[in-house]
Amino acid sequence: MKKMVTVVAAATLLGGALAGCGNSSNSGSSSEPKVGVAIYKFDDTFMTGVRNAIEDSAKGIAKVDIVDSQNSQATQNDKVDQFLTKKDKALIINPVDRTAAGVIIDKAKAKEVPVVFLNREPMPEDMKKWDKVYYVGAKAEESGTLSGQIVADYWKAHPEADKNGDGVLQYVMLKGEPGHQDAELRTTYSIQALEDAGIKVEKLAEDTAMWDRVKGQDKMAAFLGSNGDKIEAVFANNDDMALGAIEALKAAGYFKDGKYMPVVGVDATAPAVQALQDGTLLGTVLNDAKNQGKAAVTVASLLAQGKEITKDSVGFDVTDNQYIWIPYKKITKDNIDDAK
Ligand code: BGC
Ligand code: CA
Repeated sequence: MKKMVTVVAAATLLGGALAGCGNSSNSGSSSEPKVGVAIYKFDDTFMTGVRNAIEDSAKGIAKVDIVDSQNSQATQNDKVDQFLTKKDKALIINPVDRTAAGVIIDKAKAKEVPVVFLNREPMPEDMKKWDKVYYVGAKAEESGTLSGQIVADYWKAHPEADKNGDGVLQYVMLKGEPGHQDAELRTTYSIQALEDAGIKVEKLAEDTAMWDRVKGQDKMAAFLGSNGDKIEAVFANNDDMALGAIEALKAAGYFKDGKYMPVVGVDATAPAVQALQDGTLLGTVLNDAKNQGKAAVTVASLLAQGKEITKDSVGFDVTDNQYIWIPYKKITKDNIDDAK
């Protein structure tokens, strides 16, 4: 009987050891640290891309548990408590409200669990609370500038774009969630890029559509209702809202019989790339979900193992010991392949 037990125990150990050899992210190798990941909401096109990238890149380096904060900061705080209770070794947090990062840092620091923030940038004073806090994201100003340049180039190449011939570009702006660095800075810097290109601008309307396609369509329909043919360009802080605007424009007779409207977005999601191909979307800016997800999970895995975060260890530039900036890229019909 004793021998039998030993054999079973040995087989169990061997089985465990074999399972540990696999490099699948969730198979349970003890060398892969457990990392809790909270996304602000699963129902967001761009964050779904980042989420998939985190899962793919985790293979072999971390066991990730990815949860939906359902657009509620209270829910996210509960998820963080649960991660800490089950002794995850690092966290990746895409805050619902970026001003709540400080509270999350305090909780994690008390348990000595490093945190990587993603996509929604914490305030600098919160980042300074602990050196085991990182931010992976993209420079919001850059995406604004690049989307503005796309419209500036179009305007200069197409004199007929000035529909009323007054030498001024009349535009409408669909904003993302107020307070989000990407919404605020894309709005400002896109228009700044037009002015820097020597183009006079007039804002006809601006409203938030909360990053959402259906809301983008509704707001654009309202803009068309109040401004009609006066609109000469549409700026959207992301592709989902741009695609919603395109739906509203189609319903108003655009994109056929020579009736055109330049529309720009940001992200370069798959449906946006399709719209570029169709000729409805003028341009977008690649928000690199793959590399943002990869950088976040790589940093979290290293931190969880007490390792240093350097360009060599992470494979991405590290700025001010706490920031990893993933570059944006202008995408139009001419370089569609760069978006894939
Ligand atoms: C993206 C949006 C997304 C938002 C979520 C932005 O960087 O461009 O599409 O909805 O992040 O926080
Ligand atoms: Ca005009």
